[in-house]
Amino acid sequence: MDFVLDAGQKEFRAELRRFLSSELTDEVRDRHRDLSEWDGWEAGFAEEFRRRLGARGFIGATWPAEYGGGGRDARERVIFAEEMEYYGAPAFDRSVTYVPDAILQFGSEAQKSEFLPRLARGECTFFLGYSEPDAGSDLASLQTRAEARGDTFVLTGQKAYSSGADRADYGWVAARTDPEAPKHRGISLFIVDMASPGIRIAGHETTAGWEHHSVAFDAVEVPRDALVGDLNGGWRVIMGAIDTERAALSAPGLVRAQLDRLVEHCRETPAEEGALLDDPAVADRLARLAIESDAAQLTSYWVASLIARGERPQHETSLALLVKRETARELDVATLELLGAPGSLHPDAPGAPLGGAVLREYLDHLYFHFAAGGFDITRNVIATRGLGLPRG
Ligand SMILES: Cc1cc2nc3c(=O)[nH]c(=O)nc-3n(C[C@H](O)[C@H](O)[C@H](O)COP(=O)(O)OP(=O)(O)OC[C@H]3O[C@@H](n4cnc5c(N)ncnc54)[C@H](O)[C@@H]3O)c2cc1C
Repeated sequence: MDFVLDAGQKEFRAELRRFLSSELTDEVRDRHRDLSEWDGWEAGFAEEFRRRLGARGFIGATWPAEYGGGGRDARERVIFAEEMEYYGAPAFDRSVTYVPDAILQFGSEAQKSEFLPRLARGECTFFLGYSEPDAGSDLASLQTRAEARGDTFVLTGQKAYSSGADRADYGWVAARTDPEAPKHRGISLFIVDMASPGIRIAGHETTAGWEHHSVAFDAVEVPRDALVGDLNGGWRVIMGAIDTERAALSAPGLVRAQLDRLVEHCRETPAEEGALLDDPAVADRLARLAIESDAAQLTSYWVASLIARGERPQHETSLALLVKRETARELDVATLELLGAPGSLHPDAPGAPLGGAVLREYLDHLYFHFAAGGFDITRNVIATRGLGLPRG
């Protein structure tokens, strides 16, 4: 394991921090806040910010130079994700993190040359079209069909929980191409142009106040060169892409931000004697959370160092994601409990503490229990792929 950052990596972090703190001032945050968006930022501002990140070379920093990247390694990738999350930056989504990694890993030369430079410049976005109404954790049961007809495939089916599909230029879509084959062997992966005729998108409001989207494909024509990897070889692509996704999502910026915010709150909140932070029970709880937050950071760096060495971590990415999200959930609960009743105020209510962020985050983070491999699924992966335990 190699957790030590070299001078170049430290400078990369410092440069990113300078950029994020100067761009995302309190005034900018107030002006562009929009709680109906999943990341709390006005959509137009987020798109503009994506291009600014691209212009500074941050998005593609870790990709090979021939695809518009900066040639850095996976440790800079985790630093990028960590700092973006810590600052709660706009445009921090699949199109600047794991979709490009999956294209690098599985895309054809033509796909890499077409999409990576545009993604690096922040000029286009993707959504992930895996889940369906009857295929979530058991993804191999997906029913969306792609039928080969001459030089095209005809895509028909329904995707669910398609984050960001409403503004995506492309879909990274899994579909069944051989209905006769065993279910894991008849799936293929396509890059679908969302401007194609026959696509309908619907919104569904979440408890946190933003919208999920579902996407219906009605005989959508997809060219053959939109196939990623081998025909009927989509399961391998999906599994590799999901490991990449878990590695990216395990970045520890969120837990660092939650912890710093909570410690600050306890330092500033008067208690019977001194501040809340002077209460030994509170200090003990914060110390435990700080240890878990450090563990989340180190686990995530460990995964990045494996990738930087050319390995393909699998159960390790699930472990990193599990540690991060369980720590985030503990911080959600601790923050609500220590805030007391005011913590339950709506973000827009006068006097809502900590900018009203806490209740929204508590509700939003419900998805940590199941999305991208929630607590049960990541535990299953660690047990079977990591520890070699039998499948139950
Ligand atoms: C905020 C959010 C964003 C999402 N974004 C996307 C996206 O962009 N693209 C996309 O394709 N999908 C997305 N999803 C869907 C997500 O991947 C699915 O929710 C997930 O795969 C679980 O599927 P499900 O909801 O159908 O639950 P189910 O599969 O029905 O599972 C229900 C519960 O049972 C547990 N469970 C299921 N099987 C097992 C098992 N074998 N062992 C132990 N426990 C088990 C699960 O952990 C879960 O808690 C998103 C979901 C959310 C909430």
